[in-house]
Amino acid sequence: MRILVVEDDAALNRQLCEAIADAGYVVDSASDGEDGHFLGDTEPYDAVVLDIGLPHMDGISVLEAWRRSGRMMPVLLLTARDRWSDKVQGIDAGADDYVAKPFHMEEVLARLRALVRRAAGHASNEITAGPVRLDVKAGRVTVEGQAIKLTSHEFRLLSYLMMHKGKVISRTELTEHLYDQDFDRDSNTIEVFVGRLRKKLPEDLIQTIRGLGYQIVTD
Ligand code: CA
Repeated sequence: MRILVVEDDAALNRQLCEAIADAGYVVDSASDGEDGHFLGDTEPYDAVVLDIGLPHMDGISVLEAWRRSGRMMPVLLLTARDRWSDKVQGIDAGADDYVAKPFHMEEVLARLRALVRRAAGHASNEITAGPVRLDVKAGRVTVEGQAIKLTSHEFRLLSYLMMHKGKVISRTELTEHLYDQDFDRDSNTIEVFVGRLRKKLPEDLIQTIRGLGYQIVTD
């Protein structure tokens, strides 16, 4: 899952990026509205944390521009004050949720998790596929109740496939959602990670759909 953070306060931007990366997401960041708008307009994000008060282009204008051009990723707004007018404006502009500053990092993480989950159509933090159970919040995977050890890359890949189970996910989509913008996209890393996951999980869980990508079909 790939998240964009748009925040001009350098220290806060760094704290957000660190906390979100620690929670197992891939993070890109921008420190002004123009850069943030460009990234959100050109890269596929699973959610965005967007500050309202930004240089060059304010957060509300960034959000409105994304929605106008059909970019529908979930957006969590950071409002500077607990002002009702900011919230109303934000929600009218297409925000999915907001957190007022100052906030506890845990609240931002919990709201992000809920946004990503809802966008993928899941009501809870636990997703199952056959004997495999994935707890998004705890970062834990079990097979028939037995805990399985996964690296963070393996966990991210499995989470993405499980969040979108039933759909065929192309290698390009996986690469775009699992790595930041500096990742070498020509490499065959995805295949390597799928191979490793197959060794740790029931062999037929992740199906290769020839020429199209991968799919988890089990309920
Ligand atoms: Ca700001």
